[in-house]
Amino acid sequence: MSVIVRIDPTRCRGHAICALFFPEGVELDRWGFGRVIDPTPADARSVKRALRAVAACPNNAVVVVEQQKEPVGGLFGDVTPGGPRNAGELPL
Ligand code: SF4
Repeated sequence: MSVIVRIDPTRCRGHAICALFFPEGVELDRWGFGRVIDPTPADARSVKRALRAVAACPNNAVVVVEQQKEPVGGLFGDVTPGGPRNAGELPL
């Protein structure tokens, strides 16, 4: 599974905890606010550390999202022929 790590700067309050748990992917700016330097953890151990940073951030500013291999449907969902028409309607 490949994931992407992000920090929401509007939620970050500079507690610096994320850099302790995920040092290879996050650095702190001069005020102690977290900044992602490597958004794609290289291996499972690194993903685990990134998830620990997510759990440890007191402001829920760190998020890990699964990287999509294919583009997902837009506003009206997948409109490819024979594909689902919306996210709740999956093929059987
Ligand atoms: S732990 Fe959360 S609030 Fe603190 S610096 Fe990191 S992202 Fe910002």
